[in-house]
Amino acid sequence: MNKEQLKQKVLETIDKNRETIIATGEKIFENPELGYKEFETTKLIKSELEKLGLSVEKDIAVTGVRAKANKDKDGPTVAVMGELDSVICYDHEKSNKETGAAHACGHHIQTAAMLGVAIGLVSSEAVKELDGKIDFIGVPAEEYVELEYRSKIKEEGKMTYFGGKQELILKGYLDDVDMSMMIHSLNLPEDKKVVIGSKGNGFVGKEVQFIGQEAHAGSAPEEGINALNAAMLAMNNIHANRETFLDGDHIRVHPIITKGGDLVNVVPADVRMETYVRGRTIEGIEDANKKVNRALKAGADAVGAKVKITEIPGYLPLLNNNDMDSLFKENALALVKDSEIEEGGEFGGSTDFGDVLHLMPSIHPFIGGVQGNLHTRNFKITDPETAYILPAKIMALTVIDLLFDGAKKAKEIIDNFEPAMTKEEYLKFLDKNSRIIEN
Ligand SMILES: [Zn+2]
Ligand SMILES: [Zn+2]
Repeated sequence: MNKEQLKQKVLETIDKNRETIIATGEKIFENPELGYKEFETTKLIKSELEKLGLSVEKDIAVTGVRAKANKDKDGPTVAVMGELDSVICYDHEKSNKETGAAHACGHHIQTAAMLGVAIGLVSSEAVKELDGKIDFIGVPAEEYVELEYRSKIKEEGKMTYFGGKQELILKGYLDDVDMSMMIHSLNLPEDKKVVIGSKGNGFVGKEVQFIGQEAHAGSAPEEGINALNAAMLAMNNIHANRETFLDGDHIRVHPIITKGGDLVNVVPADVRMETYVRGRTIEGIEDANKKVNRALKAGADAVGAKVKITEIPGYLPLLNNNDMDSLFKENALALVKDSEIEEGGEFGGSTDFGDVLHLMPSIHPFIGGVQGNLHTRNFKITDPETAYILPAKIMALTVIDLLFDGAKKAKEIIDNFEPAMTKEEYLKFLDKNSRIIEN
């Protein structure tokens, strides 16, 4: 069978299984789970991958799955990933009313699309014609949320890093992977369906505790040290630094207070904050982070409080592999109009796929078919064909291009790729960014 015939067969197989792919996505949508708690989602994806005759490892990083196709073949390994977790958005129509979990970032879509790639390549038996291996990975915990919960399970030894892909790198699940891809949904303008080559921000994560002295708020406030005032000053100090951030660094600092006090009639002595310091480059993030730490300390100093800053490795900036993006675009052009594809652009968010991109050739295109901003109650699918089926098809066709004919194309891309970091350098970098500063 030649490559075009093979591609045709895979497209037909995905079309034939359209309902299964969409129904799986909708099932995940109906039962949103937060990162490192995706127990039901893991079970569901495991059973769908097993239906294809693949052997599936479960709970690879607390939760998550990995299935290997062609595992006994020689040749490079391409990983196709889908993220399993949701965000918290209580007001979303499908939120879990207890936990607030809701698929307002569209991860149910990309996980179903990943399954669609597996169905397309495996059910059609196209994999037999390919000269390399394919890993289908349902990855836990992309959203960097619930920092306190994650610190707790880290202490319990259940995991080390807050991002699921970071954890997979640490545990060696990507050691034998040579290149990787995933898609993310995005509310694109109506006349666009695909975005390739976007850049995105990296960040460091911070948990901050202001420690004051409690006192009766009415009868003896002079004996207290108000930790909430320290936090409020610290926030203003951060704002006062914003004019020093370089435009090109795309710095964003956006703290929230997760605990503001215990009782209105007690001077707050324990106030907690979480924040990211985001930016386009590692140097930019480090510079802004120094200023944020200075601002936090100054807020505490002003009222005689103490501050404990726990820095947690965040994610690296998003960089796409141009050669893989070109292949993805070529395959997209078989399914959508040229005018529906956008190239470049800026994504202000962050993803732990940025970490993967620093280690191996990888792509993270955005796909439309949805409306409403990510992480808001308005996020919803408006065109299931574009949201679910289109990315499954484009990714499957791209895998064929990479691994057909002795995996010539994949080998060429791997040979041309200069990793920004080795795995060892990467893990050292994470460790360096893992520290507690007490003032
Ligand atoms: Zn998100
Ligand atoms: Zn997301």
